[in-house]
Amino acid sequence: MTNTACCKVGLLVDEYDLDSGETTDDIDDQLVSRWLGTGRQSSVGYRTLTEWFNKRLLRHAYERAGRTTISARIDGDYEALTADGIEKMEVVDELAADGIDAEAVLDDMISWSTMRNHLKDCLQASKEQQQADTDWERESIEIARERSTQKVKEALKSFKSKGRIEDEQDVEVDVRVQLCCSECPTRVPLDVALNRNYVCPDHKSIAPEDAERSIELAGNGGDSFHWSTSVHHRQEPSFGL
Ligand SMILES: [Zn+2]
Ligand SMILES: [Zn+2]
Repeated sequence: MTNTACCKVGLLVDEYDLDSGETTDDIDDQLVSRWLGTGRQSSVGYRTLTEWFNKRLLRHAYERAGRTTISARIDGDYEALTADGIEKMEVVDELAADGIDAEAVLDDMISWSTMRNHLKDCLQASKEQQQADTDWERESIEIARERSTQKVKEALKSFKSKGRIEDEQDVEVDVRVQLCCSECPTRVPLDVALNRNYVCPDHKSIAPEDAERSIELAGNGGDSFHWSTSVHHRQEPSFGL
């Protein structure tokens, strides 16, 4: 898959020279395979991919400036830089001393929806395509997720107007469906469960009637709201939204 500046992601891949370096796979192949879970790792969502991509930008900025690129360092700095707390300024100053313009790198960092558009529009990748035989189930879940997202966005808007959440930052809502084992704390994304055909490795023989369905709603900043409801496995999912 070649990429000649299809969007902000493509531009950044060129600008930061992300396709050169340690791996042989190009970034787009890695993104798609991580998203679909076709590699050795299980599938991940936009948020995880976005964070991974943004950390690559940071890593390359460090490499260029000759700053150490150990993962723990990158993770810590990334967290501080994106959390907008007091620590952010410390890291910004530290990076400036090494000749890195942290604010410029932060400006380059992409949002969750940019990643989604890049995967779907630029790369024409689709999770549905992979499982064309089970389309209606996925479609109905997709519809439920979109409705939930809409509802949460409305609530969020109200929270912002009441000052419960500061509204300076542009926040995305991410609704995910997870399946939970009824016997232990194991919970896995629906896609993972479908890929491996079970929810919990330790309680595989448990009757699926006991399985719980849950929806996790997560904001951009890593805050998450969570609820679960029991759903009989023969019953159509009803989200009541
Ligand atoms: Zn793109
Ligand atoms: Zn279990």
